Amino acid sequence: MAGEPQADCLFCKIVAGDVPATVVRETETTLAFRDINPQAPTHVLVIPKAHHPDAASLAAAEPKIAADVLREAGEVAAEEKSESYRIVFNTGAGAGQTVFHAHAHVLGGRGLQWPPG
Ligand code: AMP
Ligand code: ZN
Repeated sequence: MAGEPQADCLFCKIVAGDVPATVVRETETTLAFRDINPQAPTHVLVIPKAHHPDAASLAAAEPKIAADVLREAGEVAAEEKSESYRIVFNTGAGAGQTVFHAHAHVLGGRGLQWPPG
């Protein structure tokens, strides 16, 4: 069921504390932790604690929590002193999504090229 923890989901395991992560922020509905393979000096993932497969599904099912994720992405950037930053939601394997639990990549701390690859 939408929102329920999935036994085979890495990010649900991080939420449950079964897989360790370097947590930088936590709210009732979200968790923010450092990406294990950082692509920029600041590379933090912000996830809803509830399981939704991607950002658009999250927004359709739980618009308030989708807004919580975006607000927390901004809070992370502020804490990291990243005035300019990028929020990325890879959606679908062809776009590089490897974990099918919605997550915002917050990237900053260096110049970011546009357009992205
Ligand atoms: P995506 O490829 O957009 O689905 O993003 C998944 C991200 O999760 C990648 O950037 C991975 O480096 C990151 N990742 C995978 N395993 C972990 C982990 N155990 N802790 C933190 N980040 C992870
Ligand atoms: Zn999950």
